[in-house]
Amino acid sequence: MKRVLALLGSALLISTASPALAQDMTGFSKAQRNDIIRFAANNSLFVLYHEMAHLLIDQLRLPVLGKEEDAADHMATWTLLRHRTAEADTVLADAAEGWILSGIAYGSGEYEADFFGAHSLDKQRAYQIVCLMVGSDDTAFRPIANQYAIDRDRQDTCHYDYETVDRSLRAVLDEHRVDSGTGTKVDVTYHDAGGRLRFAADAFRSSGVFDRVAEDLRSTYKLRRPVRFNAKRCGEANAYYDPATVEIIFCYELMKDYMELYAAELPDETSPEPREKGAGKVKSSGS
Ligand SMILES: [Zn+2]
Repeated sequence: MKRVLALLGSALLISTASPALAQDMTGFSKAQRNDIIRFAANNSLFVLYHEMAHLLIDQLRLPVLGKEEDAADHMATWTLLRHRTAEADTVLADAAEGWILSGIAYGSGEYEADFFGAHSLDKQRAYQIVCLMVGSDDTAFRPIANQYAIDRDRQDTCHYDYETVDRSLRAVLDEHRVDSGTGTKVDVTYHDAGGRLRFAADAFRSSGVFDRVAEDLRSTYKLRRPVRFNAKRCGEANAYYDPATVEIIFCYELMKDYMELYAAELPDETSPEPREKGAGKVKSSGS
């Protein structure tokens, strides 16, 4: 987390080539490799809950008051906060850090397209996750809100943000929850990916995050149409919901991207020189 705070103060100073992550992450210690995979899997999990929100909004014809992309982030954060586990809290902390790092790597806010785009700025998405965290439980999440230097006044009004999100989502989702009987039919498929994507694809599958979200959907919500979850090579780092096929697609390139994003911030144990940062990349659209 200290790393993130340093980044917050120097976001615009970082501008170098995209990092190269060795296929098997040689050069990193075992602990570093575990951290890289945890961070990438947790960010993938947040993105999958965000895509599940798009699926629910579409299939249940939920009302959306405000930007749908913000609503999807809210639903993902709310879903993880309701888990109330240390693991889910770590997912949210990693997701917030992920938006900070991607904002720096891709120069979020440096282009006009960032302002007319469907998504809020990456840094705003990070802060809003932390805001809902502290808004849901100020005792548990005051430390992370302080680390992100959200001032006390805003931390206190985050409670209203959370209460509004919680009340709104309960109002539209409760009637669609599985109380008895069957929920949603979800088929999960992992397509093969070789070459430079093999390691990320294997790490994604092994992490279990895709199956976890699929199971959450099966057991929590009643959708009439079956849903397909497909993990595959796409040619871009992305994840998205396709309303035409009622399908959530996760691109292995996105897992690899998160791994590179985090790896670029780790100290190189074999060299005094810092690794190249993940700046200057071309950001994928969608999600
Ligand atoms: Zn989205």
